[in-house]
Amino acid sequence: MFIKFFGVGVFFIIINTIDSFSQEIKIAPFYKFKNGAVSFTFDDGLDSQFNIGIELLSKFNYKGTFFITTGNIKKAKWEFFKEMINNGHEIGSHSISHPKLSEINLNDANFEIEISKNTVEQNIDSFQCFSFAYPSGRFNAEVKSIVSQFYQAARSVNSGLCSFENTDNFQLQTLFFSSNLKLKIANTWVNSAIHDQKWLIESFHGFDGDGYQPISSNLFRKHLEYIKSKENVLWVATLQDVVKYFKERQGASISIIDSSDYLYRIQLNDNLPDSIYNHPLTLKIKIPKSWKDISIAHGEHIVQFQTQVDPLGNQFVIFDAVPDRGLITILSQTPFDSEKEKCENCNLILYPIPFNNSFRVLWNPMYVGHFSILNLKGQMVFKGELKSGILQIDTELLEKGNYMVVIDLDTEKGNFHLIKKVIKE
Ligand SMILES: [Zn+2]
Repeated sequence: MFIKFFGVGVFFIIINTIDSFSQEIKIAPFYKFKNGAVSFTFDDGLDSQFNIGIELLSKFNYKGTFFITTGNIKKAKWEFFKEMINNGHEIGSHSISHPKLSEINLNDANFEIEISKNTVEQNIDSFQCFSFAYPSGRFNAEVKSIVSQFYQAARSVNSGLCSFENTDNFQLQTLFFSSNLKLKIANTWVNSAIHDQKWLIESFHGFDGDGYQPISSNLFRKHLEYIKSKENVLWVATLQDVVKYFKERQGASISIIDSSDYLYRIQLNDNLPDSIYNHPLTLKIKIPKSWKDISIAHGEHIVQFQTQVDPLGNQFVIFDAVPDRGLITILSQTPFDSEKEKCENCNLILYPIPFNNSFRVLWNPMYVGHFSILNLKGQMVFKGELKSGILQIDTELLEKGNYMVVIDLDTEKGNFHLIKKVIKE
């Protein structure tokens, strides 16, 4: 079975019906199913951004995007930027010398755009400079086209909120903190983002008298406190993280490549370069009501997840996954409900023998079938045939941990499963 669909546009899509239940998959519009997003962007690399702005952000554990003009950066400053990036902040380019790019010739514009990116990347090992901000907000179609050759996104100074549906990544809109801005107004921007499911990109210059249109650090702190109070419905992230999330979600395709009474195997791809587009997407997947004792693995890793039950009793798992990182396996370690009706005379028994690290399967010898042992990543570690009504399975070679034994018997009423969890001590 191979079913493919694209997860964007329509959210709950019924993609298949298997044994009277249907699977539904949703990719959260914003990370962790928040209602909106906010990013903090800082232009011109002013000192007060680094000694006041970052300090305030850190008090709330928030990260910012800092657009620097690379021509002004002293050598010693790069060490500070490296540390910022290690702490989760973003460094973007604001050109070399802050010219109005639409008013200079295109060769010079190209130089400012390309070389500033190279400078950032040469000075900060293994960092890919993702975003650009147009100096003084000036750009035209040609400038925009050059920027799009080197960067993944660019912020303008055009006023407004961004949305997933119609955001031009090379003309991102912003709301600007000017010196006379009232806290109340700034806080209503946050409310709009949450209410309208939008992305608010705030832009700042200096603090406490530094640079163009400085604002007071006190106002910024109070604004951050307000944002903190909305954190359960608001995603606070750098500009690059939100662009990554939107683009991955836009490009996402989800294929169910295997499904049975006790497991789903799912492939999540985004057709984007994996070295850049590495932000997890939040997925919500409907699983059968009867599934209990669930585990989820993504490639080689066990994944943390939440379960949710809606008023109709439908069960969902919610978890994060980076696209293109291998198969996602959702596993239920409890048998499917209807086993008894399916097989009254299978006489199937499975029990461990603690003395010699094995377990024994007994069943009605008129049936044949097979068994498999899966680890909690859904990987089959052992399989074999069921032929004569008794089988002893040696688990000596298994590593310590939890396993699922899946017994499949072919009966006159169809295929019958028994699934048992086995713990190898
Ligand atoms: Zn500027």
